[in-house]
Formats: sequence, structure tokens, C-alpha cells
Amino acid sequence: MTPEPAVTTDRHEEPAELLADLVRFETVNPPGDERECIEWIDDLLSAYGIETETYARDPDRPNLLARIPGGDAAPLMLYGHVDVVPTTNQEWTHDPFSGTRADGYIWGRGTLDMKGGVAMYLAAACRLAAADTTPAGDVLVLIVSDEEAGGDDGLGWLVEEHPDLFEDVEYALGEFGGFEFDVAGAETYPIQTNEKQVCWLEATFRGNSGHASFPTPDTAMGKMARYVEAVDGNRLPVNITPSAEQMIESIAEELDGDRAEQFRGLLDPERTDEILDEMGEEARMFDAILHNTANVTKVHGGDKQNVVPEAVTVSLDCRLVPGEKPEDVIEELTELTGMEPEYEIIRFDSGPPAADLSYFDELAEILESETGAVAIPLLMAGATDGRHLAAVDVQSYGFTPMQLGDLPFLDLVHSGDERIPAETVSWGADRVYEAITAYDGTGE
Ligand SMILES: [Zn+2]
Repeated sequence: MTPEPAVTTDRHEEPAELLADLVRFETVNPPGDERECIEWIDDLLSAYGIETETYARDPDRPNLLARIPGGDAAPLMLYGHVDVVPTTNQEWTHDPFSGTRADGYIWGRGTLDMKGGVAMYLAAACRLAAADTTPAGDVLVLIVSDEEAGGDDGLGWLVEEHPDLFEDVEYALGEFGGFEFDVAGAETYPIQTNEKQVCWLEATFRGNSGHASFPTPDTAMGKMARYVEAVDGNRLPVNITPSAEQMIESIAEELDGDRAEQFRGLLDPERTDEILDEMGEEARMFDAILHNTANVTKVHGGDKQNVVPEAVTVSLDCRLVPGEKPEDVIEELTELTGMEPEYEIIRFDSGPPAADLSYFDELAEILESETGAVAIPLLMAGATDGRHLAAVDVQSYGFTPMQLGDLPFLDLVHSGDERIPAETVSWGADRVYEAITAYDGTGE
């Protein structure tokens, strides 16, 4: 690595440079190796006189909690992760860990997910400390390891081992949202208010086995194939949750005539799938939030060419809409495939059942007054660390404000040439600063 970046008390003035320095720490998960990055953040916050504490299950993967003392109101938490996904087999114009500034962008792994957001939170917190103003309640900044691999060393562990740290916290800002997003021609700023739940299953099929020189009916392999084909080619039933309804209604309000009618039609379960088919590519996100989904991602079975295996197991990555449980999707799979393999639940991280939007309007107002566009509550198809906060009754709102111009956020996250306009890192840090100074402890 290049020499340690500077720790001085003017770093909040250039959030984009702060981001470039964060990118230079190669915190690729696995293995993560977040320690140096977290220690550097610790030094930075400490230079501003901010109190910090670290908590670690694995000493190489610490988590840092900083506290800027405020008045008696309930604290507000800002949280983000510094680990990033690998860059293997990707094409990059600039070294993904150089933090290169070129053509108006900061380039590199994590600039969007989510060192950009972390830079905003750090800049806003340092600015608050430097300004010497007292917020209504404490401002907590939590920087964690291990989000990209599930949080077993990060937030998942922290809420289990140290739930007391979250005791008075009702609201937190984190991933995912606050950036401009064009839906059916309407300019929106989604703010994540809920997310789907990861449910990993294994399904094992058993059948006749033996020497492969004889014809063998009813094999595990054949059953597995019929099952995979059924799962692959069909949707699970429509499942409309309050979170999806809030999101789609808010979008429909911004649209005219036929388009508005089309979006409202998505909320009529009799018509949902037909409208999704008609919408084509644009429908992918809505398809995901209006159903439980299941993808077969791995197959294990057979180890010898001339032996018909007795058992074959497939791995399923299922994503459940808020409030659903593993048994619900297993029931849907039984219905869909007409088959009953042996299921094993490998992982299920329960999220919040419904989005409470009590802090949404205040955040929406910050973005709307600045941009003239509309903020919408986002039910996120993918999983974030927000689910872990649900376990300690903290509501997480996706707020890392960005104006990306022509950059396709979803195509660049986890991909080659991930980059962020340098100016928008400052813009986002300003919006975060507004959020923490406006917060009065009630979210209203
Ligand atoms: Zn992320």
C-alpha cells in the first residue's frame, strides 16, 4: 500500500479526497482485512476530538463506533461498511485501488458501494465536530467490516454481542438510496425503507442408484432436473406487501395517464404478472419486490461417471418479501414444482416485517427541496446491513445522497470502472450534514 494518507483537521472540507484515501485501502472481502482502514478512520476522528471505541470478533476485522455528544434527544446513527467486493476478471481503466481522480470522477472499487457513503458520513461528522455546535442528540457513526459477506464479523455480530450500543437509537442512515433514479420517465430519489430477506436453502433429491450399465428409472438426477426446470421457468405467486405498495403508489403519483394506470395495475394481483411481462426489462426490480424469488445456484451430486448417484442436492438462493418465512417459500416451491425434496435452511436473516416511514418525510424534504425531484420509499431487492439493525429495533433509511448524471448506478456497483462524480461526494456530505443538524430526536 501507498503511505498512510494524511490525518488533519481540514479533511472534512474535501470529502472526495477523503473517499480517494479510503479506496486506497484494499479491503476486499473475502478476506476483508479492514483493520488498517478502520484504524485510519479512528485516527482521523480522534484528530477531530471525537470519541471512538472499537469492537471486534476477529482482530483483523474491527468495527468502530464514534460518538459526538449532543443534547438529551434520542441519538441518530450513521452507519456504513468499508469492505468491498473483489475485482477479479474485471476491466478497469484505472487501478481499482489507486483512488484516481480523472475526468471529474473518483475511480475505484467501493466508490459507490459504499466508501462514497462512508466518506460523506465521516466528512459530515468531522464538520460537526469542527463547527463546535451541539446536535439535539448524540450523533453516532458506526463503521463496520464484513457487510459484503453477510456481517458475521460486522454488524450481524455487533447486534448480537453488543445490543446495548443500539439501545436508545431509533433511526439510522445507511445504504441504500438517496441517489437520482429515473423510473418510467419520472425523476425520483429512492430512499431505502425496507429490504427483501435472504433465505438460502438446500434441496436434496433421492432416487434409484447403482451401476450405470443398466437402465435406471426414477433417479435423483432426473428428479433434480425436473425440479430445476420448474423453478427456472416460472414465477412464485404474487405477494404484495405494504412496503411494495408504498413504493409503487409513490411512483404512480408522479406519472401520467396510462403509465400511472400501469403501475397501479401492478398492485392488483390478478394483473401483476401480465403487466410485468408487458413492461419488459424495466420490470425487473418490480418483479423482484412483488414475489418471493428462487434461483438454483449450485448442484452437488455424483462423483463417479459409471455410478448413478443416490442423492443430488441443489442450492437455492431465495429472496423473500418482508414478513415471509422460509416455510412460506418452501410451501410455494412445493406448489410450483409438485415435488417434495428434503429441504434444509442454510441461512435466513429476518428483516423488518413492514417499513415504518416515520422518518421518511424529513429525509425526503432535504432531497426534494434541493433537487425538485420526488423522493420515494424503496423496498430493496438485495440485502443490506439494514436487516441486522431491524434485530435491535433500529429503523434504517438508505441515505447516501448522490447525483450521478448519466452514470448507471446499478450497472457499476460491484463491476469494473466503478466511479463517482467527485463533486457529488461533497454534495452528499452536505445533505447528510443537513440531516444530522435538522434531526431533533423524533424524526418528525
Ligand atoms: Zn454496500
